Amino acid sequence: MKIMKIQNFISPEPGQHTLIAGPCSAESEEQVLQTAGMISEFFPKAIFRAGTWKPRTRPNQFEGMGEAALQWLSKVKSTTGLRVTTEVAIPKHVEQSLKYGIDILWIGARTTVNPFMVQELAEALRGTNIPVMVKNPLHPDLQLWIGAIERFSNVGIDQLVAIHRGFYTFEHLEYRNSPRWELVYELKSLIPELPVICDISHIAGSASLLHMVAQQAVDLNLDGLMIETHRDPSQALSDAQQQITPHALKTLLDSLRLRNPGFTEEVMQFRMNGIRKKIDELDNLLLTNLSQRMELAKEIGELKKEYNVSILQLQRWKEVIEKCMSKADQMGLYTEFVRNIFIQIHDESIRLQSTILTEQDVASPKI
Ligand code: PEP
Ligand code: MN
Repeated sequence: MKIMKIQNFISPEPGQHTLIAGPCSAESEEQVLQTAGMISEFFPKAIFRAGTWKPRTRPNQFEGMGEAALQWLSKVKSTTGLRVTTEVAIPKHVEQSLKYGIDILWIGARTTVNPFMVQELAEALRGTNIPVMVKNPLHPDLQLWIGAIERFSNVGIDQLVAIHRGFYTFEHLEYRNSPRWELVYELKSLIPELPVICDISHIAGSASLLHMVAQQAVDLNLDGLMIETHRDPSQALSDAQQQITPHALKTLLDSLRLRNPGFTEEVMQFRMNGIRKKIDELDNLLLTNLSQRMELAKEIGELKKEYNVSILQLQRWKEVIEKCMSKADQMGLYTEFVRNIFIQIHDESIRLQSTILTEQDVASPKI
């Protein structure tokens, strides 16, 4: 896949993060221009976002202002100099956004799940080279996310960005959408040149959790943040709980601890290599120990088979786990972490012993 760096858009300098800020929805000309004016004062290089057509769960909720909103966005461009972005979900949205000079388009999570619609949007963009940002699908399917990005790449769009906006889960968790950083890492390792922005607002779901998610995204060295920003969040017509004012946005970004993207100093590099070497040795030792432990589990399996004893010996398992947890505690290890590891080890021992016990005893057939 051919991905180009988007000039002055994503990660303008090493260690710098791109900021995409603006309301969930464009609600009125005044709201859009006022919010954009405040954002541009604090962050003249930011990209201004606003939803023009809103995907709502139930009909008859506020569904966005449509074409009128595009006019306000082009006014934002001419009055503040900020570049502007909006969500497109059907080819008509693409056509109108191009007509009003929207700089960057984004594909929402509800669209990324639908390859037919993504293909139609890609076809509508054939022959243009407008940057496209693709949000992750609602559920954690990395291939579907990559597939959507590929569909735009296949029609010649090479200014592509992925947006991590978290994933829907059944369990009630603290965040509105669970972040899955490991998927972002996998995406980065599969397409290293693809910038990834973190939409902390749709992950957090509430203003009070934004800082935590933003710091995590920065610590993981993602390329930028998308943050829903409204001049008066309490009056917002969509996603009111998760939006913040431009002032709060400034406070939030000022309070983030920025990290160096890599190890630049030679001495630090040298020390780091030394520590990493020790870690590699310990990892080897862990694996050797695991393999020896599994061999012993198999030996016990043979014994259980010989004496026709059931595999699961609850008392013994209880003793093992209690002993390990108390030792872990003494050693200053997080006991829940150690418990989880031993549950996995025990499961694997049981699996190995089950295969031994269910093997056909061909050597000594019954007479
Ligand atoms: C949004 O950005 O306002 C939006 C609708 O996002 P998502 O597609 O991530 O739900
Ligand atoms: Mn929103």
